[in-house]
Amino acid sequence: MYDLIFRQATVVDGTGAPAVAADVAVAEGRFAAVAPRLDGEAQRVVGAQGLALAPGFIDLHCHFDAYHLEQPAGEIKIRQGVTLEVVGNCGASLAPLAPERARMGVDYCLGGPGRFRREIDWQTYGQYVTKVETGRPVLNVAGLVGHGSLRVAAMGFADRPTTAAELDTMIGLLDEALAAGAAGLSTGLYYAPGLFATTDEVIALAKVVARRGGYYASHIRNEAEGLLEALDEALAIGRASGVPVHISHLKAAGTRNWGKAEAAVAKIEAARREGLDVTCDVYPYHFSSTSLQAVIPPWALEGGSEALVARLVEPAKRARAIEGIKDGLPGWENIYHNAGWEKIIISAVNSPANQTVQGQSVAQAAAAAGADPFEWAMDLLVAERGAVSIIAGSMNEENVARFLALPFAMIGSDGAPRGGKPHPRVYGTFPRVLRRFVRELKSLTLEEAVRKMTSASAVRLGLADRGRIQVGRQADAVLFDPATVGDTASFEDPCRYPIGLKAVAVAGRLVLDEGRMTGERPGRFCRSGDR
Ligand SMILES: [Zn+2]
Repeated sequence: MYDLIFRQATVVDGTGAPAVAADVAVAEGRFAAVAPRLDGEAQRVVGAQGLALAPGFIDLHCHFDAYHLEQPAGEIKIRQGVTLEVVGNCGASLAPLAPERARMGVDYCLGGPGRFRREIDWQTYGQYVTKVETGRPVLNVAGLVGHGSLRVAAMGFADRPTTAAELDTMIGLLDEALAAGAAGLSTGLYYAPGLFATTDEVIALAKVVARRGGYYASHIRNEAEGLLEALDEALAIGRASGVPVHISHLKAAGTRNWGKAEAAVAKIEAARREGLDVTCDVYPYHFSSTSLQAVIPPWALEGGSEALVARLVEPAKRARAIEGIKDGLPGWENIYHNAGWEKIIISAVNSPANQTVQGQSVAQAAAAAGADPFEWAMDLLVAERGAVSIIAGSMNEENVARFLALPFAMIGSDGAPRGGKPHPRVYGTFPRVLRRFVRELKSLTLEEAVRKMTSASAVRLGLADRGRIQVGRQADAVLFDPATVGDTASFEDPCRYPIGLKAVAVAGRLVLDEGRMTGERPGRFCRSGDR
């Protein structure tokens, strides 16, 4: 007797192979049989005629680190068919924390102060993992160790290279986190404090990851004018350390840099031919999302959010910061230059008084206030103590489709649940790939899109029993209608669930059934030792 049978599904097995009609049976949390016609009974039979059954989707890149401690309902991801998500990206993880800088570490990970209002009762990576699991998540979680988080723990937001002792501390914390189950290391070399680091510092850490069998994911130093040089740096870190390199949210940012897409692809392809294990993830939108602090010149970010706010209330330092935004600095990626105030939209703030600007561009909101947009943006950062999320229109869809179609590209939402009017990728990423890039643009086949959301990501994570519908593997699965599946989250109305998903199973248990959440919570933290 099986636990569950999907009857007459169109099975898209995750490998990229053509879909086939089959019955799929599940027992004890695993796929137990796949055949054109299965006899035998099941406690539950799900009619799947005309529907696609795929392995549960893997969100290789997101910022839901605190979500599993605060509201582990999982609905945002389950309703996209996601059964495993990877946190700790872009250099920022919630662990490890130094006792004397725990709050600073949490605020850094969540993009500003005031976003985690609970007690911080963990420090080590192992303690964080335990907390995620005792919260009984609905979906599975895996995590990277953030390089910025290691730096905050060892030396705060200091704008200088590490001392030998500080680097040793970071190496020790990283090694301990990898032993506790982290899948690898991430950097955010575009953000403070990551941007204060030398390449050699990252190589020293990447060697630890290589020894432990993990991978290195990088939000590279520059995705705009310096895109090609920043890719060179990431590849050099791979060559020098022996670690597999994964480029996070590959993009060419800023109108002037759209033409660099082909050179970027050629660079990665050349490295792969040379034998380097290089992969990337892409999100299916041509708008990015980050913190408004990303417009601020690096010198003004030393010391973290509080120090930034203190500088922005000093007229001379504020003027110098604004000058830096306007003129730029050599080698520094300036998101204002990439998008302009017209295409930088405020997506989330903390204080009730400023909620009305959520959804407006800086240009719009400043004009309504009768203010200069530069001054207005600085005032908002001060009022919100540095915690302002933005959406920036800096890419084009042709490049996004090109990057998505690369055989070594996978899907990561880069979504961060920060309230307000978030980037629609938080709610829509996976169904959007299936609607926009498979059905409408036809730049991906269904089978290839599913491979990028499943087996390719499982291989990157080193999780041998995920990502394919195959007897013996964990039965994480999603059942959807390929003719109607799609995102409904828009920039105007971003907190809307997708359509066309019928059922989602995690470890063989239905967490979404006939479009309704069942209340089951079978998720767990996937430790790298599970590989
Ligand atoms: Zn990033």
